[in-house]
Amino acid sequence: MLQVENVTKRYGKVLACNDVSFSLDDGSVTVLLGPNGAGKSTIMKSIIGFLRYEGTITVNGLPSKSSEARRILGYIPEMPTLYPNLTVSEHMEFLARAYRLSDYKERSRELLERFELSDKAKKFGDELSKGMQQKLNICLGLLPQPQLLLLDEPMIGLDPHAIKELKRMMEEMRAQGKTLLVSTHIIDSVDMLWDRTIIMQNGQVKANITRDELEQDNRTLEELFFAVTEGVESEDMQHKEESPEEKA
Ligand code: ADP
Repeated sequence: MLQVENVTKRYGKVLACNDVSFSLDDGSVTVLLGPNGAGKSTIMKSIIGFLRYEGTITVNGLPSKSSEARRILGYIPEMPTLYPNLTVSEHMEFLARAYRLSDYKERSRELLERFELSDKAKKFGDELSKGMQQKLNICLGLLPQPQLLLLDEPMIGLDPHAIKELKRMMEEMRAQGKTLLVSTHIIDSVDMLWDRTIIMQNGQVKANITRDELEQDNRTLEELFFAVTEGVESEDMQHKEESPEEKA
């Protein structure tokens, strides 16, 4: 589905992503985990085509910046960018038109209901609290039902109901065979259905492991995270990354 190969991104002298490579399997949930500044947002923005970078990113074999790939790709940014003079329902309509969605009204209604925004439908973007803005941001990202969805720190600022709803949505999407890439720096927020974890630090991929591999290793994600990010990682994790066929 998604192939990221040798992606390097510099902002001036800052090396934000350093030779990052990974791929995502169809119908899987991958968690991109890493401390603040690890390069998670940068790789997401590179995939979605917002940044220039060195390296190659393809979606189903198509360059990620091609119009065919863009039709497959969806993105929920960390920072909502709403229009102050559009209402909640106008935002949904605007997005539906941009994506040329037909029959979106029922889904739009359902999303606003699930994220408790139905009674805010006539409120303008700048009348919403931070949390409500983030919920609308999520509804906008979910409306087109993309085959591959990138979610950048989606839990930040959400109330417990919205977090639960978002996790349910993610499970539903996975059951529908969609592919998800979710970035977070909060390990506890990913105690959900995930198939693979990629841990980044200082712009590099430090571990890339499936849930089954982690379970076979008999350790928790938290244990792996600290082992990897605090530099006491055992050699066999790298070994697994390089030789996935050996696990069979
Ligand atoms: P994360 O999403 O893991 O917190 P980022 O991808 O946002 O990390 O940042 C990676 C590195 O790139 C950090 O050192 C950050 O300060 C730097 N960085 C991110 N965006 C910019 C930018 N627009 N200009 C300069 N440096 C940036």
